[in-house]
Amino acid sequence: MHYFIGKNNQQVKRENNLALLKNPEMIWDLAIIGGGSSGLGVALDALSRGLKVALFEKADFAKGTSSRSTKLVHGGVRYLAQGDVTLVLEALKERGRLLQNAPHVTFDQPFIIPIYSVFDRLKYTLGLKIYDWMAGKLRIGKSLFLSKKETLERLPRVKETGLLGGVVYHDGQFDDARLALNLAQTCHAMGGCVLNYAKVNRLTKDEKGIIDGVLVKDLVENTDLKIKAKAVVNATGVFADKINRMDIPGTPKSIQPSQGIHLVLDQSFLGGSDALMIPATSDGRVLFAVPWHDKLVVGTTDTIREKPKLEPEPLQKEIDFVLKTAGDYLVKKPTRQDVLAAFAGLRPLAAPKEGSTKTKEISRSHKVLVSKSHLITITGGKWTTFRKMGEDTVDAYYRTKGLLASKSQSARLKIHGYTENPVQGHLSIYGKDAKQILDLEKQNPEWSTPLHPNYPYTEAEVVWATRNEMAVKVEDVLSRRIRLLILDAKAALEAAPRVAELMAEELGKDQLWITTELKDFDKLANKYIIN
Ligand SMILES: Cc1cc2nc3c(=O)[nH]c(=O)nc-3n(C[C@H](O)[C@H](O)[C@H](O)COP(=O)(O)OP(=O)(O)OC[C@H]3O[C@@H](n4cnc5c(N)ncnc54)[C@H](O)[C@@H]3O)c2cc1C
Repeated sequence: MHYFIGKNNQQVKRENNLALLKNPEMIWDLAIIGGGSSGLGVALDALSRGLKVALFEKADFAKGTSSRSTKLVHGGVRYLAQGDVTLVLEALKERGRLLQNAPHVTFDQPFIIPIYSVFDRLKYTLGLKIYDWMAGKLRIGKSLFLSKKETLERLPRVKETGLLGGVVYHDGQFDDARLALNLAQTCHAMGGCVLNYAKVNRLTKDEKGIIDGVLVKDLVENTDLKIKAKAVVNATGVFADKINRMDIPGTPKSIQPSQGIHLVLDQSFLGGSDALMIPATSDGRVLFAVPWHDKLVVGTTDTIREKPKLEPEPLQKEIDFVLKTAGDYLVKKPTRQDVLAAFAGLRPLAAPKEGSTKTKEISRSHKVLVSKSHLITITGGKWTTFRKMGEDTVDAYYRTKGLLASKSQSARLKIHGYTENPVQGHLSIYGKDAKQILDLEKQNPEWSTPLHPNYPYTEAEVVWATRNEMAVKVEDVLSRRIRLLILDAKAALEAAPRVAELMAEELGKDQLWITTELKDFDKLANKYIIN
């Protein structure tokens, strides 16, 4: 049977998906492990080719690295500097497609590189012209040299000493966790079955030793699910080796987690609406300061971590590095007291060859590997190229099974929420769903109350997320449906009690649930507060 785009017009309901997964007759073409950008990219592409797809995420969609990025849909200017032309070309193509297919969660963002030497002026002006040219028809804006006066008009809080001017170029910017959710919703609309809080604990094999399914624990109902599938995809990012070892115990390490942190500051530290890009900091890293949801996201670092973690924490030395480096370029040096939230993410880089430990040298491009028992693992890559990573993984499925591949249709698929008439204001990020949130506020005017006096997010958004966006925990709403936890962790803590109450009402939960949720959230939010 084939599923067609838009087959399922209902919003995603966890209980409906569970019922489908409990059907013992069902054999899925693909069971995908991991609900970050990689897993969702595979699901999207497979569904576009008419395959039957089930996807399992052990926490919430994008709980891992995919909600902790720098929020750039980019070709990667720095990879161009490293001469990785193929990677940049591929990413620029995907950047253009994503901006077209999901305009409600992606944006054209001008970046300015401040110029302090004649050599840098030449290098970046030329380099970014090449970057523009490489994007071809999918270019989103022209790079230009700006005079010192123009640079200071656009970046009013950048240090003036030694400044010669700036080079402005364009890249994309997005809300990573909301895009992940919208992808899950798109997959659902195409007949896929996506489930959060569903942990894959085992792979099952047939008598020839070929993988034929997964054993899943539904962590909400605490029940076990036995899923039959023609192939299983391991899209678990930094956790990939754990799944590889479920397949073949003792499989050597293939992933090297590399941590990057971000600090969120008030937007006034930079001023204006342009982003700041420093291609080579004092120790040769890249530093971004990007306006995002009316705040400023500053990062990032590149620190080897040994163990994969779902909730990695920024290290003191990383915080000091970002504050110090930002302070080298900004009129007002940010201090720990200015940090509204700090968050860390782990890059699932391919493990280096023996002898090399520098993560900046490890390849950023993705790899699809197939084991003897047909476990298909997708590793590396980046958010921007999630769709192409999915396409390559689904191609590997057809090859592995000796099947004739149907043509991928994912490049032109409109993502859930797509609209040409967005509403104004903060609800625009919901795309076409925004009108339904406004309807909720009309039905129940109390729900138009803001969750926090300093932020526009309303109670209706909590109700909406619980009813229609598979939010299960307070954290899901405050961290990934609205992004208050990573924008202002203290404000998120203050909003949490009302969020818990509203969710309990919607989900039919009692006071004990509220108390436990608030305790969990308190513990979590305190990790994002550094002062
Ligand atoms: C600091 C930083 C900044 C970045 N910035 C950018 C950027 O600006 N632009 C860009 O394009 N890319 C960026 N990237 C890269 C990009 O974010 C990652 O490549 C991408 O998010 C990785 O997605 P993933 O799906 O592979 O991993 P994840 O998002 O970590 O997803 C893996 C998922 O698998 C789940 N899982 C694990 N085990 C199981 C199991 N047993 N059962 C079920 N589920 C399981 C986990 O819970 C997790 O949600 C950045 C990365 C970092 C670290």
